[in-house]
Amino acid sequence: MLQLQQVSRRHVAKRLRQASVQVGAWNSQRGLATPSGPYDAVIIGGGPGGYVAAIKAAQLGLKTACIEKRGSLGGTCLNVGCIPSKAMLNNSHMYHQTKHDLERRGIDVSGVSLNLTQMLKAKDQSVTGLTKGIETLFKQNKVDYIKGSASFVSPTRISVKLNDGGETEVEAKNVVIATGSEVTPFPGGGIEIDEKQIVSSTGALDLQNVPEKMVVIGGGIIGLEMGSVWSRLGAEVTVVEFLGGIGGVGIDEEVAKQFQKILSKQGIKFKLNTKVLSAEKQGDKVVIKTQSAKGDKEETLDANVVLVSVGRRPYTEGLNLEAIGIEKDNKGRIVIDDQFNTSVKNVKCIGDVTFGPMLAHKAEEEGIAAIEHISAGHGHVNYNAIPSVVYTHPEVSWVGKTEQELKAAGVKYNIGKFPFAANSRAKTNLDTEGFVKFLSEKETDKILGVHIIGPNAGEMISEAVLAMEYGASSEDIARTTHAHPTLSEAFKEAAMAAYQKPIHF
Ligand SMILES: Cc1cc2nc3c(=O)[nH]c(=O)nc-3n(C[C@H](O)[C@H](O)[C@H](O)COP(=O)(O)OP(=O)(O)OC[C@H]3O[C@@H](n4cnc5c(N)ncnc54)[C@H](O)[C@@H]3O)c2cc1C
Repeated sequence: MLQLQQVSRRHVAKRLRQASVQVGAWNSQRGLATPSGPYDAVIIGGGPGGYVAAIKAAQLGLKTACIEKRGSLGGTCLNVGCIPSKAMLNNSHMYHQTKHDLERRGIDVSGVSLNLTQMLKAKDQSVTGLTKGIETLFKQNKVDYIKGSASFVSPTRISVKLNDGGETEVEAKNVVIATGSEVTPFPGGGIEIDEKQIVSSTGALDLQNVPEKMVVIGGGIIGLEMGSVWSRLGAEVTVVEFLGGIGGVGIDEEVAKQFQKILSKQGIKFKLNTKVLSAEKQGDKVVIKTQSAKGDKEETLDANVVLVSVGRRPYTEGLNLEAIGIEKDNKGRIVIDDQFNTSVKNVKCIGDVTFGPMLAHKAEEEGIAAIEHISAGHGHVNYNAIPSVVYTHPEVSWVGKTEQELKAAGVKYNIGKFPFAANSRAKTNLDTEGFVKFLSEKETDKILGVHIIGPNAGEMISEAVLAMEYGASSEDIARTTHAHPTLSEAFKEAAMAAYQKPIHF
């Protein structure tokens, strides 16, 4: 079964390669690929969705331009999202570990202190290195990078207000909208973000001093990651969450509970089932009024910095979508079909600005698939196998269904769990918190979901994603040799637990 699937995937890849060669040939025959001619593909937005789509399009022989207004490529992810947050998470973890954890490992250090300016500089260097790297990739792949704001004149004509002044128009056979998302303001208004005392994730990545007290509004992934950073650097962090659990959409409830326990032990305070009513600046403090979700209790908190992280919303400002009649839904997402087509012919859309989880890798996959649709007539994203990762310590990751989703759908399932406390490498590393949890279909043993909380969970989840892509059973994983001693043996043992029994627990 596994072998057959592998063959068919390789076959699809070969067909795509053949199709791309063919398209390249057609284009040059039809004069589309001449530098002065119209573009075969114009991508609006240079985030992970847009820049990947642009590179793929050029690789497949399409004359391609990418329009980006930010002044640097990489979008939210590289400039103010995934990359700077991971730089801060990694370095704040190292600082915290050096200060609080090295001694028990037999490493005596003294005089450890925080140089926040240098930590922020290291973050900025990572960002610049990577965003410049995409410019190089554009050059290597012959993607025209147009710096400016795009606006539709017609479905095939786009006007660009250039960052350096002036305006130009580009003509496109195909357009891909990849304009991403922006921070959702506090619902109902009343809490104004100034990026100093009341910040969004962007401001939280650039605080010039460690706040004594920080209140995080929203216990989703971004709130927990940024809360972790500043807590490790010395802030007293309180997370206020309207729901009864943390981790946001898609997290397994059992994992969420364990996660909250671990973060609480690390010093983060949680106020769940609690609604923020207002946050008002009073000198160098912000006073936050909260109410219990039931509405029966009110409380006042104070903080030096408040992080508003209640989500992100699709961004389409300035695109002039109305002029060409592109349909949006009531959440502002551009409506697409299963081939990324908008309501307007030859205009496709991918990434945060349309449906699905707002994740960089989801946007990238869509970028490639949308271009393959343009180039070869088919392309595919498996939305059942998109992983999510929270880059705290320990990390949390998951793919597929949660236990509560399976229950709600009436699916019969097996659970296989294995704690890192029983894994030799985790024990050796003195890093044993968390577990791996497999959910497999009772009758067939097919893997339906994998949930990990523990060291290296973000890397480990890729094995589960691959397994699910191949339609593997937990027995397939359990019978696959995993190197010893590795953390991934916990993954294998959880699979064993799902279909029989683990050896080491
Ligand atoms: C703090 C934070 C941490 C995150 N961490 C992760 C993570 O660890 N992993 C993960 O997978 N995801 C993470 N995300 C989410 C991730 O950043 C997004 O899902 C991803 O960037 C979406 O990619 P995109 O290409 O759809 O849009 P974006 O990255 O938002 O890019 C869109 C680009 O389009 C440009 N644009 C918009 N309108 C126009 C116009 N009219 N003309 C020209 N250009 C235009 C914008 O300037 C922008 O650069 C994080 C987000 C945040 C805020």
